[in-house]
Amino acid sequence: MPIRVAVIGGGAAGLCAARYLRAKPDVFQAVVYEQADQIGGTWVYTENVGKDKYGLPVHSSMYQRLRTNLPKELMMYPGLPITEGGRTSFIKHTEVLQYMNRYAWTYDLHKCIQLLTRVQSVKPIVNCNKTSWEVTVKSVKDPDATPQVNEFDAVMVCNGQYAVPSYPNIPGLETFSGKVIHSHEYRHPEDFKGQTVVLFGAGFSGRDICVDLHTFVDKIYLSHHIPNLDALLPDNLRQVPDIKSIDKGRVVFTDGQSVEADVLMLCTGYLYDFPFLTPECEVVVDRKRISPLYKHVLHTKHTSLSFIGVVWTISPFQLLACQVRFAMAALDGTMVLPSRTDMDADAQCDYEYRRDELKYPHHYAHKMDHLQWEYDKELLRLANVVDDDGATLPLFKELYDATNCLQTEDLVNYKKRIIEISDDWTSWQVL
Ligand code: FAD
Repeated sequence: MPIRVAVIGGGAAGLCAARYLRAKPDVFQAVVYEQADQIGGTWVYTENVGKDKYGLPVHSSMYQRLRTNLPKELMMYPGLPITEGGRTSFIKHTEVLQYMNRYAWTYDLHKCIQLLTRVQSVKPIVNCNKTSWEVTVKSVKDPDATPQVNEFDAVMVCNGQYAVPSYPNIPGLETFSGKVIHSHEYRHPEDFKGQTVVLFGAGFSGRDICVDLHTFVDKIYLSHHIPNLDALLPDNLRQVPDIKSIDKGRVVFTDGQSVEADVLMLCTGYLYDFPFLTPECEVVVDRKRISPLYKHVLHTKHTSLSFIGVVWTISPFQLLACQVRFAMAALDGTMVLPSRTDMDADAQCDYEYRRDELKYPHHYAHKMDHLQWEYDKELLRLANVVDDDGATLPLFKELYDATNCLQTEDLVNYKKRIIEISDDWTSWQVL
């Protein structure tokens, strides 16, 4: 009997899971539940904010003019070259979605994807030493239909991490006389024509939205606490410290300065959210740290419950492939797992290394950045994967580092650059 796997979500992670699970039909049988009416997750652009046409919270935080912040080769699944966008390196979001659809057709993934099906609950059923999973799903189109309860041997959680906004606690925010918007709801720069915008947070979204906005708005105040944001920034942007409080139309910063603003744009990130996991799953989300996870993927008690794509600051599509193959190796016995105690100790050690050596704050528990390259290789090594399918080419790290430099040099224009890759994928040059 194949191992029955429920995959929650049909975005980049869920599709990747489906591809590798379907490649071993004698061993695995996969069903992907996707609540939307199409695959793609984050990359499905919508004009809607708030609720979608089925009354569900809008999932995607995509904005209309977004181009990728990584060259497309870093957004490529192992095994399927990305050709979308022609010579362009930093491609449009529509082209990423096109590529994901091509991936799904290439590996015949639609056969195992159930669209418009929302996972409502996931509950472990413990029988002697074996855990199986009760997965309850509901039709999105027909909310009056009876929920369907299915049993699986394993669950891969691939529901994304950029759908539930995190709001900061700013004294006086409710008195702000202008417009308050979270980046999750940002769609077009035209909506802010001629206005003064205070943008709070200089992470990927904050920086990218500044660039998208700057030719439309009068002035941008980028409020943040990053020590060395010395990139070449738009002329009408001024960097200011964190926001201390709001007093009607004025935004007051921690150094005592204040400005009159029309808009407060919160680029303050997102929360992990697993509303379908019942308490019996024993998953704890503590301010952006999910526990207990071995190698950021496997639940250390219920190892047939895995989380694909909770790490961040990554070259995503290759990393997802490594995580999927690691989770599969735990399921089919290709990898013998350490004891639960050892896995918990490993997870704690990883956390303490970030905290004590890298001086990362608590909420960086799943941040990868320069750690990702060794991490990818480690997952494949532990999973006894012989053919890495091109997931760990040295070129990826080089491109990633080069992109960071390009961004720092010229945040406004770096996406116009073309990074040309040699035919044998060993070298590259920036044009
Ligand atoms: P998602 O794409 O969020 O997919 C999750 C899926 O799960 C969704 O389809 C959702 O509908 C479904 N789902 C959720 N809950 C349920 C449920 N209960 N039942 C059924 N289905 C469910 N990465 C880059 O590498 N380069 C970029 O340039 C880049 N730009 C980005 C820009 C923005 C604005 C954002 C928000 C993210 C960006 N990212 C970028 C990160 C991007 O999210 C990842 O590249 C990747 O798409 C994440 O895929 P995922 O499958 O983990 O999550």
